[in-house]
Amino acid sequence: MASIGVVGAGIMGLSAAVAIQQRLPAAHVTIMAESFTVDTTSDGAGGLFVPNAPDTDVSLIRKWGKEGARHFFNLAFSEDSSEAGVYLSHGYELSTKPLEQLPIELEFALSHRRLNPEELKRFQPYYKDGFHFTTVIVEGRKYLPWITARFREKGGHMENRRVQSFDELCGRFDVVVNCSGLGSIKLVPDPLLKPLRGQVIRVHAPWIKFFVRTDNNVYILPSSENVAIGSTKEADECDVTPNPDVSKQLFERALARVRAIKGAKTLWEWVGLRPYRCPPRVESEIRRTADGRPIKIVHNYGHGSFGISLSWGTGVHVAQMVSDLLHASPKL
Ligand SMILES: Cc1cc2nc3c(=O)[nH]c(=O)nc-3n(C[C@H](O)[C@H](O)[C@H](O)COP(=O)(O)OP(=O)(O)OC[C@H]3O[C@@H](n4cnc5c(N)ncnc54)[C@H](O)[C@@H]3O)c2cc1C
Repeated sequence: MASIGVVGAGIMGLSAAVAIQQRLPAAHVTIMAESFTVDTTSDGAGGLFVPNAPDTDVSLIRKWGKEGARHFFNLAFSEDSSEAGVYLSHGYELSTKPLEQLPIELEFALSHRRLNPEELKRFQPYYKDGFHFTTVIVEGRKYLPWITARFREKGGHMENRRVQSFDELCGRFDVVVNCSGLGSIKLVPDPLLKPLRGQVIRVHAPWIKFFVRTDNNVYILPSSENVAIGSTKEADECDVTPNPDVSKQLFERALARVRAIKGAKTLWEWVGLRPYRCPPRVESEIRRTADGRPIKIVHNYGHGSFGISLSWGTGVHVAQMVSDLLHASPKL
């Protein structure tokens, strides 16, 4: 029986692990992670399904986006929708410049249409063009426990540990899947991978039933219990303490664009560090340990601002690469 080790229990590790169980039902899959659910970046993200990736072949984005759309729309229409925290949402994509074509992330929407001048007037003077579209919101705080339960149901094991080096895992696993997010800066090591800090506030505003996403980092994303207002994008910043002045600015910027959030009360502030790499790394590698033994690895990290959206699509791709590697010669 094949033994597969997955490093990381954010949305990437959990999705890849479940996709591997689906593709290779006889495999024994173990997730090893330093932190789980609430302590991961995946827990607090806005969660809008808008698949994209910088500097990445569009055919790959389409492969990941279509696979993810099938998975998340099926969930949103199923009886698991509430427990999994995956549900349909409608809203606006707004651009400060005229758009020459449909943004790729909207290709995977359930439906979309261009805004007419009357609708655009509501967002002036800030935005010149845009679309209305229907997609899903994936609420990390519910989805991570839900997908963890699916993993355990299928016989998956979890270990709470820090992996210092892939060498530790050689001999124990036939293939190691690296979904360690920012941990890959040291583990791989990968100098292309950087933290992209994002501060967001969660407000009580149950009357807000639509999302707003823009090309200048203003977003308003309603989830089942609150509304996320974000976000900053600060390269190479690692401080995860929320800055109250920034929270105030986030709210004021959003209020200037969408007056309907007036009166919303702040519930909490949150900071997450997006694992940003241009392009994200989704590829297999056979490397040698310090004492010369071959180890088969599939890397899946660096999805930046699109990790929730790409989680299932890249997970399925990873499962395919794991299956291919199991049959590959270990020679370098
Ligand atoms: C404010 C904000 C809003 C966002 N909104 C969206 C959105 O609307 N849509 C979207 O698609 N994406 C969004 N994102 C991006 C998304 O949250 C991330 O891309 C995604 O969560 C990354 O998941 P991950 O599993 O790679 O990393 P993480 O969730 O950080 O998980 C990494 C895991 O690896 C483990 N680990 C690391 N190193 C080691 C080691 N050496 N040994 C053992 N374990 C290790 C950690 O403990 C953890 O379990 C947002 C992000 C932020 C910050």
